[in-house]
Amino acid sequence: MAIRRDEAIILRTRDYSESDRLITFFSRNQGQLTGIAKGARRSKKRFVHTLEPCSHVSVTYVDRQTSGLVRLDASELKNAFIALRSDIARLGYASLSCEIVLGMSPERQANAALFALLYQYLEQLERGAEPENTSLLFQTRILHLSGYGPNLQGCVLCGRKPRAGGNWFFSILQGGLVCKDHKHGQQPYPVSLGTVMLLRQAQQLPLAKLWRLRFQRQSRQECRFLLIDLVRHYLEKDLKSLKLLHQIGALNSTNDRI
Ligand SMILES: [Zn+2]
Repeated sequence: MAIRRDEAIILRTRDYSESDRLITFFSRNQGQLTGIAKGARRSKKRFVHTLEPCSHVSVTYVDRQTSGLVRLDASELKNAFIALRSDIARLGYASLSCEIVLGMSPERQANAALFALLYQYLEQLERGAEPENTSLLFQTRILHLSGYGPNLQGCVLCGRKPRAGGNWFFSILQGGLVCKDHKHGQQPYPVSLGTVMLLRQAQQLPLAKLWRLRFQRQSRQECRFLLIDLVRHYLEKDLKSLKLLHQIGALNSTNDRI
């Protein structure tokens, strides 16, 4: 039995019994873990405001084994990202990222790069960064970090390299670019050369510089559903947060004024 202290971001909170809650968090040193917070439903004092999804916390937990639940003994708030929570669109995109990390990060596998990505993403939203652009950058990067980054070098079926003015497409099933001769039967998403270059940069730039990239109107239209459909394809399930984003009109093309 080991008592551990770690930095974490809360991904999901669920009621477990009359008095307990189940908390899934992404920790810096142990990756995704789920802990039982005894008495969290009855005594609000012990975990006051520290078990909200998206909160950055310092957790103390008891780990009895190498798999299964841990016992969450304490959670201390480091950053509640208050400003982010006051805006429904930013909160919706923050929830979407937590849901994606929940689905894409295996339990008990530390991933410092993924922790940094999620933390900086929430920090960007907190500072008022435009949420859809920030989310598209996050989605590109998490796909890459998880080993599902799309192949953007050339047509995955014939190797032809993308050139300006050509007709290029993205195939979810093939996990990368396809040329006009190989798009058939692939449910292709049209992509411009500018979008291909932008996605390549978003995969490779140092994290601190990632947030400077901008999906302009055309790239945004091309990637709005492409990236999230790619995530859903790998997760093999739908994402609840998308429903909220649809409801508030965040995914409409009226956001393409940039
Ligand atoms: Zn081809």
